[in-house]
Order: sequence, then structure tokens, then C-alpha cells
Amino acid sequence: MEKLFIGGAFVDAADGATFETFDPATNEPIARIAAGKAEDVSRALASARRAFDEGPWPRATIKQRAGLLRKLAGLLLENADALARLESRDAGKPFRETAERDVPRAADNCAFFASAIEQREGPAFFDRCSFLGKEREIASLVRQEPVGVCALLTPWNSPLMQATWKIAPAIATGNTCVLKPSELTPLSTLKLAELCSQAGVPDGVVNVVTGFGPDAGAPLVADPRVNAIAFTGSEATGIAINVAAAKTLKKVTLEMGGKSANVVCDDADLETAIEGSVLAMFRHSGQVCLAGTRLYVQAGIFDRFVERYLARVNALRVGDPQAKDSDLGPLISPQHRERVEAFVARAEEEGTTALLRGSRPENGVLARGNYLSPTVFAPERDDQAIAREEVFGPVLSLFRFKSLAEVILRANDSRYGLSSYIWTRDIATGLRFAEGIRAGMCWINGYFLRDLRQPFGGMKYSGLGREGGRWSLDFFTEPKLVCIAY
Ligand code: NAD
Repeated sequence: MEKLFIGGAFVDAADGATFETFDPATNEPIARIAAGKAEDVSRALASARRAFDEGPWPRATIKQRAGLLRKLAGLLLENADALARLESRDAGKPFRETAERDVPRAADNCAFFASAIEQREGPAFFDRCSFLGKEREIASLVRQEPVGVCALLTPWNSPLMQATWKIAPAIATGNTCVLKPSELTPLSTLKLAELCSQAGVPDGVVNVVTGFGPDAGAPLVADPRVNAIAFTGSEATGIAINVAAAKTLKKVTLEMGGKSANVVCDDADLETAIEGSVLAMFRHSGQVCLAGTRLYVQAGIFDRFVERYLARVNALRVGDPQAKDSDLGPLISPQHRERVEAFVARAEEEGTTALLRGSRPENGVLARGNYLSPTVFAPERDDQAIAREEVFGPVLSLFRFKSLAEVILRANDSRYGLSSYIWTRDIATGLRFAEGIRAGMCWINGYFLRDLRQPFGGMKYSGLGREGGRWSLDFFTEPKLVCIAY
């Protein structure tokens, strides 16, 4: 039985309630988890509040905090294999990815924010002014103080990476926190809590309340004891959280969904553009916020590109996420697969051409899981639901375009603005696209080449604020002016 982590100890939910989580590859139960509710959130917040208001953590030296985060990074790497297996099993993500990317990145997040606080510089201003009839020197210092108690809420698709992405900058800057992982994939976050304790994080600094969104997430974000909320998840939840946060005037950062445009120009390096576009769309079976789900290919190479692209997508192996050669694991749950299939069915009802039609595997062990092979649609219009809404599965909308100006307008005709991609040999074309696109991120000839110093986040309904690098440090701190007249 997996318990809540409150005040440095694993404890049952106050009412003893539990729920099961399932392996998306088989739909067999994996674990029984404590179902936290308002009373548990309250206990966790009392613990985080005490650790912040009275505990040593906000007053620890930079060296102490950085040292501890490096220790945590080391522990993540020591446990890398087990964590990568757990994450793969819990989220249905290919083990190759969790082992090569997610777990090393989780460790990097901790080590990165250790260095970031060591190197962070604070502003100081010097001037002269007249005060009470006398000329005085003025020295203004800015203290970068922790915000306080932070509510961190994470989605199911990359749980460990997301948890460290929020916990590391939050605690590096002296905050305490209560993290609410997704009810679908809480296991690696609970392991992370255990490793935090092993690394020497004082009791109450990191708390984890597992449970469902309305039961555990909603009371957490509404509680006045919380000073800041860092959320990653869906648009509807993000908006509800923003409303709750406004009522108690909390700082908020929201990382939400996307329908990102991926543009391939006539002059692109075809091989790189094909491989990059396949990765940008089908990694983790399209269950990635950054997925390039609207693919625009320029008329001059359209036929050549599409033929080779489809052959490449057809060759992707759908299979057991724990197996070395699987490219696409299962979708997270039977309900989520049905939701994705409903998008496909609706597009077909509208008469949309499917260049490739995904399906459930019918035989063998795969039939027990939530697998779905890739679908590639060529919608007639940009405003069809399949081309507008976030499907969050292996379903692509493919379009032809003629000019850069046209594709920028079409790419921007979206409620979302998270990421964008362009493949071209002409750097001026790439930069013009980067200037024109209304999205928080633009990769030219690349996909998710992520330097931890970069800002991460989106415009429009993809989010509010940014995380990453100094943007995370700014979010998790309050600048306090100390002005000295002498
Ligand atoms: P979700 O919004 O359903 O859940 C996210 C978290 O919020 C979970 O912990 C959930 O329990 C909690 N929650 C749900 N209802 C709540 C409520 N009323 N109050 C407070 N908390 C509540 O999202 P999901 O289905 O887990 O994740 C998929 C979504 O996340 C997709 O839309 C995807 O694009 C997005 N995502 C965005 C990024 C990004 O960085 N922009 C990264 C990964 C995923």
C-alpha cells in the first residue's frame, strides 16, 4: 500500500480510503494508493507551513540547499534503473525513454537548480537624493526570498520529470511544498519523496498528497495557507485553478495543453525533417504537451515527403513499453483511448481522409492493454475538430501550404500557443517563422532540444507564465527591497 507523505512520514489517509492504479499495458492493478482528501491536504499544509514558518529550511545557506539537491540528484541516478522501470510501467512510456531521458533529466533538474541558486545574482542600486532637507546616499538591495508554501500539481504523462521540475526550484529557493501527483501515475513521485528524505530534506519541506483532482487538488489550490501554485495539466483544470487562486491572490504558473504546428519547407533537409517530425508527433504515443500535431508540408515537396513520412510512421513498433524495441507504448487508460478514438470516429464521419488508420491490436498480450497505432488524417479544413482540439494521442493532421506568410497565419489560427517547429535550410525563413508564430517556444530544425536555462511554457490557452531556468527562480521567490539612506 502506498501512503501519503506528510511531515517526513508515510501515513494513511485520515479516512483510510484507498484506490487502485493500473498498468496501461495490461490493465492489471499495480498498486493501492492512499486517497487523500481535504483533511489530508490540511495536514500536509500544516506541516509545510510549520516547516516554512518555524523550520530551518528557508534560513538554510545556499551551500546547504545546493548540497542537498546534488545529493538528491545522486540518489536519483543510483536508483535510475528501478525508477525508469517503475515510470515505464506506471505511465506506459517506453522504458528506452524513461531510462535515457526521464530519469537522467529528473537528476539533471536537481543538479541544475543547485548550480542555479549558487550562481544567481541579485540586483543592487546606488543613488543620491534629498531626504528631510539633507542630501543622502541611497543603497537599494533586493533580497530574493522564498514565496512560502507552494502547491505543485503534476499530470500523468511524465510524472517524475514534472515533479523534479517543480520541486527542485521550489526547495532550492527555500520554499516548502505540497505536491499532488496525478491519480493515474503517482508511484515515481512517492519514490522521489522517499529519496528527498534520504538526501536529508527536513521533515515538512516536501509533502506528497495522492488522490483525485476534485478531492485533493481542489482543496489544495483553494487553501489560503498556500502562497504559490505551479500547475501542469489540462486547460480545463488550469482555468479552474486560476479562478481558485485569484480568490486568495496567489502567484500562479500554468503549463497547459497544445496543438502545435510543425512546418516543413521545400528546402528542408528531408531526412532530418522526416525523423524529427515523426518524433515530434509520436513520442509517448502523442501524449506529450509539445507534440507537433498539425503538420504543414510545403507544396513543392509534399508528395515526396508524405510518401516517406507515412512509410516511416508505418514502421513504428507498437508494443510492450518495457521491451527495448517498442516505439509506442499504450495510452494511459481505457477511457483515454476511447476519447482518442472518438476524435478519429468524428473526423471519419465528417469525411476526412485517413492516410493511415490506427487501430487497436486485436491479438496476443497487446489486446489486454490500451494500445492504439498511429493515425494520419489529411483534413480538408483547418477548423475541423481533429485539427483544432488537443487529442493527446497518436493522431496527426496533415496539411499542404504554399507560402511562409500563409502558414504563419494558419499556424496561429489556434486557441493554443505552446510550441512550434520549422524545418528549413534557410535560417532567415526559420527566424521569420519564429518571429511570426504566437507560441511560447519555436524549434528550427529540431524537436525539444532543451537546455535547462531556457524558458518553458506557452501563450494563449497553453498557459500563463514560464518555468525553467531563471524564470522558475523568479516564480518561486519574492523580491524584497531593502533601501538604506545614509
Ligand atoms: P489534468 O488537468 O487532468 O490533471 C493534472 C493535475 O491536476 C492532476 O494531478 C489532477 O489530479 C489535478 N486536478 C484535476 N482536477 C483538479 C482540480 N479541480 N483542482 C486541482 N487539481 C486538479 O491533466 P492530465 O490529464 O493529468 O494531463 C494531461 C494534460 O496536461 C494535457 O492537456 C497536456 O497537454 C498537459 N501537459 C502540459 C504540459 C506543459 O508543460 N505545458 C506538460 C505535460 C502535460
